[in-house]
Amino acid sequence: MARRGVTLETKLTDRYAVVGQPISHSRSPEIHAAFAASTGQDISYGRIEGSPLTFEADVTRFFAEGGCGLNVTLPFKERAFAMAHNPSERARCAGAANTLGMGPDGLWADNTDGIGLVRDLTLNLGAALQGATVLLLGAGGAARGVIHPLLEAGIDTMWVANRTPSRAQRLVAELGGASPRLRAVAWTQLTELKGVELILNATASAVNGGVFPLPANIFLPQSWAYDLGYGRALTPFLLSAQQLGVTRLSDGLGMLVEQAAVAFESWRGVHPETRGVIEALRG
Ligand code: NAP
Repeated sequence: MARRGVTLETKLTDRYAVVGQPISHSRSPEIHAAFAASTGQDISYGRIEGSPLTFEADVTRFFAEGGCGLNVTLPFKERAFAMAHNPSERARCAGAANTLGMGPDGLWADNTDGIGLVRDLTLNLGAALQGATVLLLGAGGAARGVIHPLLEAGIDTMWVANRTPSRAQRLVAELGGASPRLRAVAWTQLTELKGVELILNATASAVNGGVFPLPANIFLPQSWAYDLGYGRALTPFLLSAQQLGVTRLSDGLGMLVEQAAVAFESWRGVHPETRGVIEALRG
């Protein structure tokens, strides 16, 4: 007997993930699950342990198999940007991407790190960035992502120092053009810097156990030490700043949640509430 056509439409849960190496520590799945719950979105969000040998193939396969979006973390942000057919202005300025999605015109890429940092500093922590002098430690994907948004937020001068000095010089030449507001400084010359109000650690030292020989004289009484890294206890960078008398110490958990919220909005069209998520993660 011929069956009359009854179409059963099964809506599959939209799949997202974060890819990086190492990735087991990532809190992005918890954050996106909280966003999904608070906004009523039906999504799943997992972790993918990336490999330098297969990163591009892994990303291609994820989307070919119906994945909807990826967050990208260290050390793949520059490679993620290079893969995109449609990079956002933010990603183009940074030359690095932390958010990927598939659109009608192919793979798009965005960089939400910088806006996430600025939102955390200004909205959550009440920092005044207008006219500030900032020292940025690191010249990798995260550093690339935060430079333009911080300059746009009105800071006066940003110094960039990196373990490999040539990388900091290249970054400044690439992103700063001829702007005197963005300058490279050698690690060995940090002692000569004066009046730094905000020191941002955008190195991966906490991931690989590096230490921070920060000179005491770069801090002002009102200086703020902000580590883009985060953990249950104070990071080595924040400990080192504390030992030098700095009292305003912040880790990157708020930035993590804020950058995730901007990525979530690009994928799902709704900006989730962040304060409660930050508090829950710290709890
Ligand atoms: P990346 O592209 O791999 O760059 C790593 C950077 O760290 C480079 O500048 C590297 O210097 C430096 N570095 C590595 N080990 C070091 C050590 N022992 N001492 C001093 N410098 C060292 O990584 P990334 O994507 O920029 O990420 C950097 C950090 O930011 C990570 O801790 C990441 O978790 C954090 N992050 C946090 C958020 C957030 O939302 N909170 C977002 C993005 C990134 P060389 O050039 O000399 O190798």
